Amino acid sequence: MKLRLIFIGFSVLLIGSCTPSVSTSPQIIVPQLETKMEMVTRADWGWVPLTDTIPTHEIKYITIHHGGEDFPEDKDVIKYLIGLQSWSRSDKNWIDNPYHYMIDLQGNIYEARPIKYPGDTNTDYDVRGHALICVMGNYENQILSKIQFEQLALLTATLADKYGVANDLIKSHKDYTETLCPGKDLYRYLEDGSLIKRVVELRKP
Ligand SMILES: [Zn+2]
Repeated sequence: MKLRLIFIGFSVLLIGSCTPSVSTSPQIIVPQLETKMEMVTRADWGWVPLTDTIPTHEIKYITIHHGGEDFPEDKDVIKYLIGLQSWSRSDKNWIDNPYHYMIDLQGNIYEARPIKYPGDTNTDYDVRGHALICVMGNYENQILSKIQFEQLALLTATLADKYGVANDLIKSHKDYTETLCPGKDLYRYLEDGSLIKRVVELRKP
């Protein structure tokens, strides 16, 4: 599959052996020379263009979900995305897949519904203004891996920078309505503040 590289211009802090050894106040060390995010675009996975539209919105919030169904290691992600899009249109009468971005078990990030259109939900919160990220799987039963956590933080930081979303408006589905989503093993990182802490580290100064 063709992956398109989207490079994000985070500032680079070089800490090398050739750096003069001088005594200064403690510095925050940024481990990456360059932070990049690879994304599988809609064209890459066989997204079917919209046949209908709805009023557009402006992003003010980022809201994290899980897929809510167990996702085995050998499940075909592309088939899942295509099936979800087809089900969303035919069974739910939505214009598209309900989420804007989806993350698989390996941490790959997929574009889904174009972000200028509000997403959809089976629950009762108003999704207008929300960028919806879905981590595939059921985190009531499954464990969020380190790479999934890192990719979720990177995508969230990228979207937050792009749309100027305040850190306290980065939440999960459960923070808005009665639901188990995004599942206890993902929600614990929102509850203990570690996801937002990582997002803040990744955001542009
Ligand atoms: Zn949800």
